[in-house]
Amino acid sequence: MGLRNRHADLTTRAFIGHLRRHPLPGLMDDECVAALANIEAQFGDRRSHGAGMEVRLGDERRFVDYILKFDVKDIPLMNSEGIEIDYEQFVGGGPIGACRFARVKRDKSGDYRVFLDGTMPRYAGPERARALRPALVKLTKAMAPEASIRLVGVMDVRGADAGLRLVLDYPDFDAIAANLPALGWTGDTAALRAAFAPWAEAGFTFGLALDVSPEGIGEKIGLETYWQGNSPVYVETIIDRLLNAGLCLPSKAAELRRWIRLLPEPDPFLHTRFTYFKLNYRDGRIYEAKAYLETSSMVHHFDFPAYDRPLRLDLVLSDESGNRLSPSDATALIGDCVAERVTGLRLYGGEDWPDLLRLLAVCREKNRRTEVVLQKRVDRDWLRRVLEAGAGAFLVEAGDDTAEITLATLGGLGAGRGTENGPCLTARWRMHAGNAEELPALTARLNDLGVNELLITGMIPGTGAALQPPTRAQMKEAASFIWNWRFNEEEAGGIVIEIESCFAVMLSMICCGDPEKAPIPGFFDRGCEGGRSFLAIHPGGTISPCRYLPGEQAASFAEYWKHAGTIKAHRQNTGHRPACATCPCARRCTPCPAAPEQVERCTVNA
Ligand code: SF4
Ligand code: SF4
Repeated sequence: MGLRNRHADLTTRAFIGHLRRHPLPGLMDDECVAALANIEAQFGDRRSHGAGMEVRLGDERRFVDYILKFDVKDIPLMNSEGIEIDYEQFVGGGPIGACRFARVKRDKSGDYRVFLDGTMPRYAGPERARALRPALVKLTKAMAPEASIRLVGVMDVRGADAGLRLVLDYPDFDAIAANLPALGWTGDTAALRAAFAPWAEAGFTFGLALDVSPEGIGEKIGLETYWQGNSPVYVETIIDRLLNAGLCLPSKAAELRRWIRLLPEPDPFLHTRFTYFKLNYRDGRIYEAKAYLETSSMVHHFDFPAYDRPLRLDLVLSDESGNRLSPSDATALIGDCVAERVTGLRLYGGEDWPDLLRLLAVCREKNRRTEVVLQKRVDRDWLRRVLEAGAGAFLVEAGDDTAEITLATLGGLGAGRGTENGPCLTARWRMHAGNAEELPALTARLNDLGVNELLITGMIPGTGAALQPPTRAQMKEAASFIWNWRFNEEEAGGIVIEIESCFAVMLSMICCGDPEKAPIPGFFDRGCEGGRSFLAIHPGGTISPCRYLPGEQAASFAEYWKHAGTIKAHRQNTGHRPACATCPCARRCTPCPAAPEQVERCTVNA
């Protein structure tokens, strides 16, 4: 995906390296850290999209089980699996066995035939699938309509050769408690409700982990609180509750708090987060809590004041007034990017900048990723040369015929979804009250053109600043269209629809829908990213958090990133219209500070 870096698979070695750079002595002693070398020896070169640790929060011993995520191919309803390597497996050296957990996609047929007859034999083995089939048929028939299978686990290395671990998603705790007897659970539901009352009341959402054997489900169950994020507000709430319940040692709580505060690294992009906490229950009580920590290569949250360096520079090579960045300054900036480990450059105004091809070649040589923004009409030959020079991605300002001609031309030249590993094609579309209803038709056209991503923006300065933002009703309608698209066409390989962080109000709408509710934690990334994940360099060499804000002189962009008062003030992102102060979305929305008149017209909290 362009420069948004959502799925940058790295080698297992890169994830282990991150852990070595940021040791957690309260969770992993020296022996455990040293033993990671055994995992590296066996899996170091394999590409993974995340690595994690299972931490036993109430156990004094300082070791973890290690989790790696790999792609899965050719198994119905599955595209990735996690392997969980128990400490006992990797501490001794030698061949390493692992438990395997794969995520199950929702079956669009609405029943479990594909899961039972397609997924199970391929993933768990034909014999096990056959032996478990009666129990699984019974279980899936008894599942509440709102429940779904999320994860399947095969744990042979723990001696569970015939069984299966399942994790079922439910909307809330009550739905789990109500459904458990029908699933065949023989435990005391009243005792379960009493044990989980403090957690259920707090409004946490839960998944249900259970073990299935040919005889049915076991009495031991686990409840997992899901979200993928790093919001200290949310994480701290859970840590405090675990401490109060005696389920977490203070030494481990301190390490968890430290973990969520590590700043993300840019090159390779890595950041820390939690995937979930798990409460294990048996014999009338919660007897154990575990935390699942992750080092991830996906950019998907912005709970930090800023990244430790910018992820991206927006280079304005030429502007509307005819100012141009000097080629020598541009080349020097590429060198600075290498020195400062900045991975990506988004290039604006390249249509009128004569040295674009050479700059792209330098970027390619220095292994910096580039995205060329196209705002003007350009001919096919120019696009071909830009592609050949190494442009890694294109961002085309969509909304008129010129843009769609450009996108079609680029598709014909090998960019977009039509070519495996071709440069990514993103169409950015500004939504407003006058065009909101065009979204479905636009999506269909861009999808047909083979565009990878439709990036919806709005409430930003620049052309069309006088346009009316979409109404709340329009945004709700668009949100419902986008959700529907994501779960159907996008899953089937169609164009991906994303909301640009600048369009924070739409993000708020899509993540909470109801303005009375706060957005789902970890789900709504964040509004304005200027000065937090990227900054802009203007034609005169001046720097600002975003290209819409005036530039200022600085010794270097690294200096500016770390020390400039302007960027620090911008990150605070205060001073919006009064309605924002009472808006439930305000903490994450952080609307565009460069377009206050647009924010003024926001209807989410009206
Ligand atoms: S009222 Fe303010 S904080 Fe709330 S969604 Fe609108 S712009 Fe964002
Ligand atoms: S100031 Fe922030 S929200 Fe506004 S256009 Fe720039 S990056 Fe987007």
